[in-house]
Amino acid sequence: MINQKPTYKSGFVNIIGCPNVGKSTLMNAIIGEKLSIVTPKAQTTRHRVMGILNTDDYQIVFSDTPGVIKPVYKLQEKMMQFVVNAISDADIFLLMIDVTSNILLEETFISNLIKAQKPIIILLNKIDLITQEALEIKAIEWNEKIPNSNIFPISALQNFNLNTVLNKILEYLPIGEAFYEKDALTDKSERFFVSEIIREKILIQYKKEIPYSVEIKVISFKNEANILKIQAEILVERESQKAILLGHQGQSLKRMATRARIDAEKFFDKKIFLELYIKVVKDWRSNENALKEFGY
Ligand code: GDP
Ligand code: MG
Repeated sequence: MINQKPTYKSGFVNIIGCPNVGKSTLMNAIIGEKLSIVTPKAQTTRHRVMGILNTDDYQIVFSDTPGVIKPVYKLQEKMMQFVVNAISDADIFLLMIDVTSNILLEETFISNLIKAQKPIIILLNKIDLITQEALEIKAIEWNEKIPNSNIFPISALQNFNLNTVLNKILEYLPIGEAFYEKDALTDKSERFFVSEIIREKILIQYKKEIPYSVEIKVISFKNEANILKIQAEILVERESQKAILLGHQGQSLKRMATRARIDAEKFFDKKIFLELYIKVVKDWRSNENALKEFGY
């Protein structure tokens, strides 16, 4: 094995910001894999997902956190704990702003961020959607809010200016040993990705409260020679939600399962046999034990 270079760098970079600013899109673009699910709905990302970028010279551990919101359900409270943890262990922050949105971050959140005394890189995202003038106004605004930070206009979706951001991150990244294996891509298990892929398809296909009332539990994951055999449970809170998920003669569930299987086959690069079951667990979102079981 080759010895680690004395200049080898390693550290944690946490991507934070409101829901829908493009945090997951950015992480996926930088890592080059679809690690985090991306949809136009807010609160798609419930857990922290880490994406790890390895070269001979550095290891950057990105973490994609749920958007910053005020907790309503217990589930949201738990989600916000991930955001708080993300602040405490970061070496560098990427604060993402959606230039097309006027949603304000809470003042206390911004002052906590400044108090952490870590480098903050502000990313003005989705610049593909606005004019140069509007962008300049945003840049001035953020320069006043957080003085001495670095501000970069980017488009996570179109991969614009991401290399400049990466170079800035490398300037700030501390010298040190790798935290994870040098071929690691993420801290999450294969089962986690299966459940995220299924959750994404539910988010896309079903409307109203259904997506927010489900949780996915992978109950078996068998890697056989030519096929991956996966069984998963979809938990819902009420019988009525189960009926909606199933649809007429189970057609909706079938369609969703097919979409999930196709995506999972791309992700794992293997043929997949996917079986889905729906299970009703009353009010799981407010049930402490149930939440614990799902890793919140
Ligand atoms: P998150 O909630 O912060 O993780 O946001 P997502 O990464 O899930 O993105 C939310 C939505 O914004 C998705 O529909 C993305 O395709 C879209 N999006 C993200 N980045 C950009 C961008 O640079 N330009 C445009 N036009 N859309 C973007
Ligand atoms: Mg996300």
